[in-house]
Amino acid sequence: MLGQESLFYWKGPQTTALIGEFRRHYPLQHCFPCSSGSAALHVAVAALRLKPGEEIIVPPITDMGSVIGILYQQLVPVFADLDPQTYNLDPADVRRKVTAKTRAIMPVHFAGNPCDLGALGAIAREHKLSVIEDCAQAWGARWQGKPVGTIGDTACYSFNDFKHLSCGDGGMVASNDATLGPTLQRWGDKYYDRVSGNRNIEEFAPNYRMSEPQAAVAAAQMTRLPGIVELRHRAGELLTSLLQDVPGIRLPASAPGDTHSYWFYMMRLELERFRAPRAEIAAAMVAEGASVIAGYIPHTLYQYPVFQRHGFFGGSWPIRDAGMTAMDYRAVSCPVAEAMVGDCAFFRLNEAMGDSYIEKVARAIRTVAGRLAR
Ligand SMILES: *Cc1c(COP(=O)(O)O)cnc(C)c1O
Repeated sequence: MLGQESLFYWKGPQTTALIGEFRRHYPLQHCFPCSSGSAALHVAVAALRLKPGEEIIVPPITDMGSVIGILYQQLVPVFADLDPQTYNLDPADVRRKVTAKTRAIMPVHFAGNPCDLGALGAIAREHKLSVIEDCAQAWGARWQGKPVGTIGDTACYSFNDFKHLSCGDGGMVASNDATLGPTLQRWGDKYYDRVSGNRNIEEFAPNYRMSEPQAAVAAAQMTRLPGIVELRHRAGELLTSLLQDVPGIRLPASAPGDTHSYWFYMMRLELERFRAPRAEIAAAMVAEGASVIAGYIPHTLYQYPVFQRHGFFGGSWPIRDAGMTAMDYRAVSCPVAEAMVGDCAFFRLNEAMGDSYIEKVARAIRTVAGRLAR
């Protein structure tokens, strides 16, 4: 790469290599490597060419990156509640949240656990909705044997420094859709059409390009994917088997036939069964050798101040002020997600943790659960 004359992505050898490596795992025809997972999601949303005020259904516990692009496109994130065991979108609540303005569903495969794409896909077909899979936390996860991202209409991945695979910062948006797919590159590159060279701009789009140095790192990282996922999956499943009967601790559940790729290991504590608050329980687990962290995000997304104030653009929300949406985030309630914000605790898994390490972690969690039980 150091000998290259240009570090620009278009027809760059590193970018080409990255797309090749990516496609070995995700057979998606149209791929645009971009600057972040948030950028990938923004491109996927923008490519739908929706009208201001139209709605996309999202989960309330996720990274802000899931909704940034939705809001920048003057669209409305509509929050549906979670399943209390998988921590993923609950299809029954998604169905309740569909309105005449709904245009897409964004399943976020939380912590690496595949969403119920069968049920969500059925709702999407029934209401002619697009499905944008947020796979940022789910590199290597499989829904019923198929890699996540290859089931919905568009797939979005992140290479940020904390994900399974990292190139510092980066993302990928990809699709097999014959209409939408070929436009992804333009939606992430100022709507410049690099194929035809056309710069007579037909749409309004940001620049989210990835450059060659990041692509080189990401391509090299992609080759490690199967190994990383195998080890994380093994560690997560082992932890679940070892913690089965520990009272007061609810373990993450995935559907039979799915492969959870454990970006982290999310538990819920039945706090009424403990005689210490969550922070103390987690601290005691850390002291015993299990690096458990109390909580995940401080609130559901709709409870963040920016949502409560509807203050997305200079303290206001033009589409709401103009009557193009009646959404009031102060009135939104997703009881499962809100309960989970208050009682979850997670363990940061990684591929270097062998069986004996995980056994030690399980012993630590079990010891503390016993000692602090009410
Ligand atoms: C990390 C993450 C993103 C955003 O990815 P960035 O590369 O940090 O922009 C989006 N969605 C989810 C679920 C994530 O975990």
